[in-house]
Amino acid sequence: MKLVTCLHEGKERVGALMDGVVVFLPYPDMNTLIETASVAELQTVPAECGVPLEDVTLLAPIPRPRQDVICLGMNYTDHAEESARFNAGAFTKEEAVAVYFSKRVNEATAPEAPVESHQGLVDSLDYEVELAVIIGKAARDVKAEDAKDYVFGYTVLNDVSARNLQTRHLQWYFGKSLDGFTPMGPCILTADETAFPPALEVSSRINGELRQHSNTERLITSIPAIIAELSRGMTLLPGTIIATGTPAGVGLGFNPPQYMKPGDIMECTIEKIGTLRNPIV
Ligand code: MG
Repeated sequence: MKLVTCLHEGKERVGALMDGVVVFLPYPDMNTLIETASVAELQTVPAECGVPLEDVTLLAPIPRPRQDVICLGMNYTDHAEESARFNAGAFTKEEAVAVYFSKRVNEATAPEAPVESHQGLVDSLDYEVELAVIIGKAARDVKAEDAKDYVFGYTVLNDVSARNLQTRHLQWYFGKSLDGFTPMGPCILTADETAFPPALEVSSRINGELRQHSNTERLITSIPAIIAELSRGMTLLPGTIIATGTPAGVGLGFNPPQYMKPGDIMECTIEKIGTLRNPIV
């Protein structure tokens, strides 16, 4: 099932996307849906009326995350290498140890919505396509072999980054958290729709030019390992969003770096989920 949050006749609705039709579901928002319904239960929820996808405006599937987005840094070998070549001081990690950080997200950016370039503050605006895992039920001390039971679904997240701020302040938080820096969508693919852990093609394009291309089976720290490690001593609540890292091909990896400017179009695609497209302004 593909789940969306959208605006219809001025009202925010959640729905299931089926054959180009959004069938509304009786929940006030996606966080409530995730908290109260399992993926299996959703199949039996009586659907309300449906409207063509063209008649709604998609929002990010979770427009207002309840907590910070948990992110993994350098979780594909090829991206870890390009980052270390760019700035060894800011980007070094032990291969086997995950790097965790977070993004503040007042509001996740909708598909097609513009992303501000923050001119005068940011001189190195970059993109990062990532598979985001959505946690479905409170997870504490979960074994890797049981992690599957805690995943509600997946979406595409663009971990937009200001490299100058990211490297200047020792911690990456500010450079990852500016307004508009978390585009998400176009939908949540429920966990039952793909293998676990998912092996999905991931790619990004800038102005139509292919920049990143990999597969989520190449994650260094796997999704079961991430959930097992983070839930040891920290409860992951329903609706928690974990961005699993980006592969090689981001702007900083080029020589010279290829950063984004107003007018550029970012497209982040993950197999089975779809394409998240946003212009820079
Ligand atoms: Mg990232």
